[in-house]
Amino acid sequence: MENTLDILNEVSIFEQLAEKEHEQVVFCYDKHTGLKAIIAIHNTVLGPAAGGLRMWNYATEAQALQDVLRLSRGMTLKNAIAGLNLGGGKAVIIGDARKDKSEVLLRTFGKFVKNLNGKYITAEDVGINTKDIEYVAMETQYVSGKPESMGGGGDPSPFTAFGVFMGMKAAVKTVFGKDSLTGKKVAVQGVGHVGEHLVKHLHEEGATIFVTDIYEDRLKEISQKYKVKVVSPDEIYDLDVDIYAPCALGATINDNTLNRLKCSIIAGAANNQLKEEKYHADLCREKGILYAPDFLINSGGIINVYYEIIQNYNRKKVLEHTERIYDYTLNLFKKAQAENINTHEAAVQIALKRINDIGRMKMNN
Ligand code: NAD
Repeated sequence: MENTLDILNEVSIFEQLAEKEHEQVVFCYDKHTGLKAIIAIHNTVLGPAAGGLRMWNYATEAQALQDVLRLSRGMTLKNAIAGLNLGGGKAVIIGDARKDKSEVLLRTFGKFVKNLNGKYITAEDVGINTKDIEYVAMETQYVSGKPESMGGGGDPSPFTAFGVFMGMKAAVKTVFGKDSLTGKKVAVQGVGHVGEHLVKHLHEEGATIFVTDIYEDRLKEISQKYKVKVVSPDEIYDLDVDIYAPCALGATINDNTLNRLKCSIIAGAANNQLKEEKYHADLCREKGILYAPDFLINSGGIINVYYEIIQNYNRKKVLEHTERIYDYTLNLFKKAQAENINTHEAAVQIALKRINDIGRMKMNN
């Protein structure tokens, strides 16, 4: 999904696992359905590895592997910083979600999840909806984001969008002194599940909203429901806006886009927004752009999933927990400023400290 490096084809799989410190990676293949999936378990110190299932038409298998390795590590950091007792994992199915999905494909994936005996818990991500999760749940109990009719927490996207909105407000407060988005110009890239809910919050608060997507039908639907200006996928980087909100794919904060973006804040839902984490987080800082770390502000969805996993689902509790992203983000910005480091680094430090502290505590038990 992220623009991959042909060089990856030459890098050993184990070198990649060693570099990101993964615990286990499972390649799933089924001859009958043609299922090709990868489940990556990054870290289980805090609890079972939890993270969504993505279905994407990757150009190469190396790209799929790179995506799942990056995403699963991101889940470790996200679950840790959100204060959840969950480790980090992720799964990808290689294929076109609009054409290749079927009941048997998803149930076959569910069987692979079942075989991991609870070490990995799956849920929705790009290309996967609650209906698909119902199929996965026919084969395994280790699945979350189930529809409310099945006793689940439903689609996590509205909670993700609410958390992103909270993180965005904290960034606006830090840059402009007040956390109101009224009159602020926001460019939303990708109006899928999360992007649409984010647009709704922004619309209700009176922001000026620009949207883009690769699917015309999504853009048509959104512009019929909300007051938005539609731009082409490439134009989104050149707009004169206050906030760029990446809600599509990863790695859109890179050398090329940072030369074009005129915003003072980046705050969106997409995972792994920074192409090169340290380098591009530093570059944001140098350019005076406040970057709200993706894995912190997009944790609302996994917070929703968490309460379902611990079988204590309560919508009010989920919203309260998600609302705290506002304070977490404000504090994070203060830490980054006080320690003269970029905001991504500050967030990683907080997450790793929790994993190390809890890991040490568990070893002493
Ligand atoms: P989605 O598939 O519903 O929406 C993504 C949208 O982005 C689609 O409409 C797609 O057409 C569009 N898109 C793809 N490439 C694009 C491009 N180059 N330019 C413009 N638009 C493009 O996915 P989602 O569930 O809304 O998730 C969006 C992002 O947020 C993903 O990166 C996902 O990993 C992340 N995320 C989602 C959740 C969640 O609860 N769904 C939680 C955390 C993080």
